[in-house]
Amino acid sequence: LLRAAFGFTSFRPNQEAVCRAVTAGADALLVMPTGSGKSLCYQLPGIARGGTTLVISPLIALMEDQAAKLRARGLAVDRIHSGRDRGASRQTCFDYLNGKLQFLFIAPERLRVAGFPEMLAKRKPCLVAIDEAHCISQWGHDFRPDYRMIGQYLPMLRPTPVLALTATATPLVQNDICEQLGLIDPGRFIHGFRRENIAIEVVEAQPRDRAVLAHEILLGEGRRPAIVYTPTRRQAEAVARLLQRHFPSAAYHAGLDKDHRRDVQAAFLEGRIEVMVATIAFGMGIDKPDIRTVVHTAMPSSLESYYQEIGRAGRDGAPSRAILMHSYADRYTHDFFFERDYPDVSVLETLFAKLTPEPQPKDALRRRVRLEEEAFDNALEKLWIHGGAQVDYAENVARGSEEWRQPYLAQRDQKAAKIEQMIRFTESGECRMLSLVRHFGDYSDARRPCGICDFCAPAECVAQRFRPATAAERSRITRILSLLAAGDGRKTSGKIHAELSGGETSGRRASEQLLCDMARSGLVTIVEAEFEKDGRRIPYRNVAITAAGRAWDGEGEIAIREAVEAEAPPRKRVARKTKSKAAQVPKTKSRRAPAKTETQPPTLADAATAQRLRDWRLAEARRRGVPAFRILTDAALRAIVAARPSTARELLALSGIGISFVEKYGAQIFRLLHEGTGGRYSPTEPSQASS
Ligand code: ADP
Ligand code: MG
Repeated sequence: LLRAAFGFTSFRPNQEAVCRAVTAGADALLVMPTGSGKSLCYQLPGIARGGTTLVISPLIALMEDQAAKLRARGLAVDRIHSGRDRGASRQTCFDYLNGKLQFLFIAPERLRVAGFPEMLAKRKPCLVAIDEAHCISQWGHDFRPDYRMIGQYLPMLRPTPVLALTATATPLVQNDICEQLGLIDPGRFIHGFRRENIAIEVVEAQPRDRAVLAHEILLGEGRRPAIVYTPTRRQAEAVARLLQRHFPSAAYHAGLDKDHRRDVQAAFLEGRIEVMVATIAFGMGIDKPDIRTVVHTAMPSSLESYYQEIGRAGRDGAPSRAILMHSYADRYTHDFFFERDYPDVSVLETLFAKLTPEPQPKDALRRRVRLEEEAFDNALEKLWIHGGAQVDYAENVARGSEEWRQPYLAQRDQKAAKIEQMIRFTESGECRMLSLVRHFGDYSDARRPCGICDFCAPAECVAQRFRPATAAERSRITRILSLLAAGDGRKTSGKIHAELSGGETSGRRASEQLLCDMARSGLVTIVEAEFEKDGRRIPYRNVAITAAGRAWDGEGEIAIREAVEAEAPPRKRVARKTKSKAAQVPKTKSRRAPAKTETQPPTLADAATAQRLRDWRLAEARRRGVPAFRILTDAALRAIVAARPSTARELLALSGIGISFVEKYGAQIFRLLHEGTGGRYSPTEPSQASS
């Protein structure tokens, strides 16, 4: 079947075992990296089992891409999503019921359409595949509320087997996926996280130096094609402008309109553009095999996103490099957003206290709570997600369950832990690839160092610089080694520091760095570990002396990572329990405060337009069965009224407006705005938007 239906000569690693299990009717969870061939693991069993395979997928673009590929192989495939008209979707349903489809792709929110799951249940699929399954978990890095209810519709499709697929799930997320979907005794296939040909390099650099550093790196022979990831749209533009002077480069982010993005992407695929400078909006579904370098000009917010982004390098198997730039500035940035997006529980508490069993209008509630608008919206959304508030489509808010605190705190801790893990990765004293492989729970492959990262092969580094140890560093190294040799050969890094500095806590960071340098030179090994205290996981490091360390004569070369910037003040803990301290965030260059929307005195026409938009939003919220703020926030609505965008590009440029909103609603928004300028609209041309 592999040959006949797909034209492949052999399975890729791990595919066969999954295919066998699923074909035999077992539930399974498949976690393998992007590009490793997960789709085949539902496609082949689907064909083998006979009948229709139902594929649930979060992105229209992904659906269209997969469907087109299967069609090209002569398979009967269709899809239902918001980008298709009603007639086409009806026809697809008939085809499904008549058994004409081998594959049916749907978006998760489709399950909420009245009668749709029942329709599916009339003729059960032979397999249900849930792609990008990490979206179901609020512990994952891309939680989507629409995914959360998939689990409640699966029982009516049973006994059909269910396969959940994702590229990014830590052991915690894996458990959550299995639980939420109600998978029955699922086979767990967690594999293939090692990327043999990606050399990871982590370099400490000040934000202001990073664009220039990126340029230097990419100048090198064989360093392009490349992707440079930047944290903001503005930085993407700025870095692209700088690089453009030296090689064909372009910015890519969600603030650019669809046509432009398509052109740029095509140019990159064809090699006319060598460097893509992008926000994380770029890369989903990109299949360019020869990307030689991925540069991060800022620290991502989780190891999962980081891994996914560097995974776009070297799909062809040829040597590639991933270079991550970071510094203290990144922590402050992440702290800032953490505090903004996950306020202290007391903020939610204040809001919860004002909720009553009888629904009250959101605006009235906001006035009573006296929170700034953005903070209020955020707090309300968090309460809603965790069940503390009930919000109807018209945004009347009622008191929900008392049980929201624990899940909220758990989510908040989890988010903080992700940032902490990312920071630890940048500071780690072991093989970079091993850290990642272990992070994803691929324990069968957690031993062999990669041999090419900045830890394993410092001499190969292109961005990180090293210098010989100073006399002072040598004498400290000697003291550390004799301290270790005097005992049983091992100590925690905290103990070593305490014993050498007489209990002083300052200089701890330099001390940890030096241990990393020693580990890189083979004098010690460092093993990252954790212990549990009060239900929290506290990380620490075990340091052990090696044979080379015992034999060291104080003379051998020790390479010290060059400090690219002066040591910053001791850092604030991410998982702080105090109130929001956004005001204390130091004004580093990379600080990204949320953009303020320009406001002008509203006119009567504005008020009318705003009302039309609100009416439309209400109708849409009712239709989709979600609170209105899930469609469009008040702040974004006001920004639309103030800016009156007339193109997709202008609409996207507004804060709070994303690409999916523009794709889904752009045309309706323009029509609504237009109605305002043209006076009354003719009754013979019914307003689709408000219907
Ligand atoms: P993932 O979903 O894991 O990111 P895909 O399923 O999209 O990856 O597969 C990536 C690429 O690998 C696709 O182009 C697919 O056709 C190809 N592929 C998958 N399995 C095989 C195989 N056994 N032999 C050759 N190519 C394969
Ligand atoms: Mg995939």
